[in-house]
Amino acid sequence: MNILVLNTGSGSVKFSLVEAATEQVRFDGLVDWSARPARFEVRPSGAAPVAATVPVSGPHEAVTHVLQQLTGGPAPLLHDRAEVSAIGHRVVHGGLRYSHSVRVTAEVKAGIAALAEMAPLHNPINLEGIEAAESAWPGVPQVAVFDTAFHATLPEAAHTYAVPYHWTADWQLRRYGFHGLSHAYCAGRAGQLLGSAPRLVICHLGQGCSLSAVRDGVCVDTSMGFTPLDGLMMGSRSGSVDPGLLIHVLRHKGLTADDLDRVLNRESGLLGVSGVSNDLRQVTAAARAGVERARLAVDVFTHRLRQTIGAMAVTLGGVDALVFTAGIGENSGLIRAEGCRGLECLGIELDPGKNDSCRPDADIALAGSRARILVIATREDLTIVRETVRVLGDKG
Ligand code: AMP
Repeated sequence: MNILVLNTGSGSVKFSLVEAATEQVRFDGLVDWSARPARFEVRPSGAAPVAATVPVSGPHEAVTHVLQQLTGGPAPLLHDRAEVSAIGHRVVHGGLRYSHSVRVTAEVKAGIAALAEMAPLHNPINLEGIEAAESAWPGVPQVAVFDTAFHATLPEAAHTYAVPYHWTADWQLRRYGFHGLSHAYCAGRAGQLLGSAPRLVICHLGQGCSLSAVRDGVCVDTSMGFTPLDGLMMGSRSGSVDPGLLIHVLRHKGLTADDLDRVLNRESGLLGVSGVSNDLRQVTAAARAGVERARLAVDVFTHRLRQTIGAMAVTLGGVDALVFTAGIGENSGLIRAEGCRGLECLGIELDPGKNDSCRPDADIALAGSRARILVIATREDLTIVRETVRVLGDKG
C-alpha cells in the first residue's frame, strides 16, 4: 500500500510516496514557486535527483503538476496511478472539530474552509491542494491530517486563556498548538529508542519553534497557542510578547492590526532582534564575528527556550527525556548546549562531546544524566502515512 503525502504550503508543495508497511520512501520532491521561475525537483530513492523549471505559480497548479509528472512526463515515476492507494494531506488547523485525522468528504472540505478565519495563511492553501488532487485523480481516497490534532488532549487548565469566558466558549479562543505531526512522530520515536520514557519534553526548533509536554504518549501542554505566533522566539516570529505592549503600539505608535500581523510574523524573532537574518546559521556566524545584536538574538532565543523547557518540566513533574528536532534542533549543537545550560537542576545533563559530533537519531546526555537527551530527525510525512492508513484501514 503506497501513500502519497502532500504538504501544500504558500510557496511550495512537498510530496513523497511512502510504502506504508515498510515506511520506505520510494521518492520525494517538491514544486517551489516562491522564487521565479518555479522549480520542480524529485529524488527517487537510490537514484540521482532530477530538477526542472516549471510554469507554476500557485498551489493548485503545483499539485496538478506533481500528479501529472508521477504517471506522465518524460520519465514517469509510476507505471499506473493505481499504485497509489491514498493521498494524505497536512492541514494546519483542525479547530475544535477535528481532533483526529479524517477522510476527506464534501463536509470535511467545508469544515476546513470554515476554519480559514483561524488560519488564513494555511487552511485555504491546504484546501486548494486537496481540491487539486481530487480533480486530477478523482476517486483516490484522501485523508486530512491536522497539525493541531496532537494537542487536542490538552487539559482545560492548559488550553484556556484567562480572558472573559465567553471568548473561550463563544469564539473558540483557546490554545490549539501546532507542529503536531512532528511532535507526534518524535513522541513515538522517543518511545521506540528508549523503551520507557513516560515524561517527554519535545523541542521542535525550525523556522517555527514550539515545545510540547507529553505524558504516556499524550500531549498535556504546548507553547504555541491560538496561533503559531505564541511561545518561543522563532526565525521571524516574535513568540509571546506582553499583550499590553501590543495595545501600546496600536494606541501610541501609529501601527494598525495589519502592521502588527506583518511585523510580529515576518519582521521579528531572530531577524528582528539581530537585524541580520531569520536563518540561525547566519545569525550565529554574525555573532561569532562580533555583531552584538546577533549575539543578543541568540541569547534571547536560548533564554526563552530554557525557560519554556522548565515550564514544561514542571507541568510533567519531571523529565525522562528531552528531545530536540527540526532544522535547528537537529543541527545546532550551540543551541542545544545553550538550551540545556542550567537544566542540571532537572536532572538533564548534556555530554558536550556527544552533542558536538551527533548524527540523529542520537542520545547526547551524559551517561549519568537522570534524563536522556535525544536528537531526532523529524518525519512529519510518516505521521501522515500512519494516520492515513489508520483512517482508511489496512486494505490497500
Ligand atoms: P526548518 O524549518 O526545520 O527547515 O529549520 C530551519 C532552521 O534550521 C533555520 O533557522 C536554519 O538556520 C536552521 N538550520 C538548518 N541547518 C542548520 C545547521 N546545520 N546549523 C544550524 N542551524 C541550521
